[in-house]
Amino acid sequence: MPSFVIAEKCDGCKGGDKTACMYICPNDLMVLDPNQMKAYNQEPDQCWECFSCVKICPTQAIEVRGYADFVPLGSSIMPMMGTEDVMWTCKFRNGTIKRFKFPIRTTPEGMANAYTDLKGKDLESSLLSTEEADGYEMPRPKTAG
Ligand code: SF4
Ligand code: SF4
Repeated sequence: MPSFVIAEKCDGCKGGDKTACMYICPNDLMVLDPNQMKAYNQEPDQCWECFSCVKICPTQAIEVRGYADFVPLGSSIMPMMGTEDVMWTCKFRNGTIKRFKFPIRTTPEGMANAYTDLKGKDLESSLLSTEEADGYEMPRPKTAG
């Protein structure tokens, strides 16, 4: 289910030029209503449910209801970002609360290099980069020229 903002919790990021959720959304979905000073998802159909806005919101005003393959049906899930890890709090339908902590990537912004681990790999191969050849490989498409 796409992201939604709990209006009572949103303070519009205190009137900054760009709110945190507007800054982080990879699909530019979050907008701020300047009269109400509340953010909202302007196009829920386009939401990737990536949780980025949920994680960055300083007031925990944004929620995404996870699908059943991620959290049990009917429960809610809320991440809390730390400097070294992210704590996920899952509240089950019967009120049970469970927390899971996972380390986060600490690569500085803009420094991630997706190809570092792929040095020496054949990027034209039809195999996955972690996959060993087992004798059969899909034929490569012919390149022009
Ligand atoms: S990041 Fe949170 S507090 Fe800031 S505008 Fe978005 S929903 Fe509101
Ligand atoms: S969940 Fe991701 S795609 Fe959806 S509004 Fe939030 S940041 Fe944008």
